[in-house]
Amino acid sequence: MIIIEFNSRQRKIIEIVQNNEPITSEHIAQLLNLTRGTLRPDLAILTMSGILEARPKVGYFYTGKLKNEEMLHRINEIVVGDIKSVPVVLDEKTSVYDAIVTMFLDNVGTIFVISDGYLTGVVSRKDFLKTCIGNTDINKVPIGVIMTRMPNIITAFPDETVVEAAQKIIEHEVDSLPIVKRELVDEKECFKVLGRISKTNITKIFIEIADV
Ligand code: ADP
Repeated sequence: MIIIEFNSRQRKIIEIVQNNEPITSEHIAQLLNLTRGTLRPDLAILTMSGILEARPKVGYFYTGKLKNEEMLHRINEIVVGDIKSVPVVLDEKTSVYDAIVTMFLDNVGTIFVISDGYLTGVVSRKDFLKTCIGNTDINKVPIGVIMTRMPNIITAFPDETVVEAAQKIIEHEVDSLPIVKRELVDEKECFKVLGRISKTNITKIFIEIADV
């Protein structure tokens, strides 16, 4: 698929045509305070790429093909902070048993683990399964023992795009990422958990965009 990136003037032209179709090039030029000659290359690109249609003596129409382009633009503008959900967070000292109960009650697949208020790890369904098929006393073992630990936790910042977060999820083969804020504690880098982004959040956006 060829993705065409339009410049800001071309975007303005598209918007004008969408709101005023049919509209002549003269009128578009007037609205933009430009000459027709200046607009000619932009209008040529927009008609050649099928976004606008020029009908002689009538003017320009918007053909609707912008939808894809607009959609791509919009996807790239959504940031993780916009779609985050509430994280389920437990202290490292919580027993595996209690954490499994929390996982069921809160209906999540991943729990973020903290100590002194800062992220230290992640436990997921597979970690619990692994623990349960061994001879572990799940009432005695704390989740701090079985979790995946920092610095191996893949995180996202609120201003990262959802596309970047989705790439991390796929690349590292995990279901969700903690959304974090960096803080310095005694000159050590620590992370406060602000939220969660999961495959479910991203699938929801996919459905919204498909408009079903
Ligand atoms: P599930 O266990 O439900 O399949 P995941 O695929 O997310 O869930 O987890 C697989 C492994 O990756 C587990 O050991 C888990 O601790 C770890 N894990 C989950 N999320 C992250 C993350 N954001 N960063 C690093 N490791 C993670």
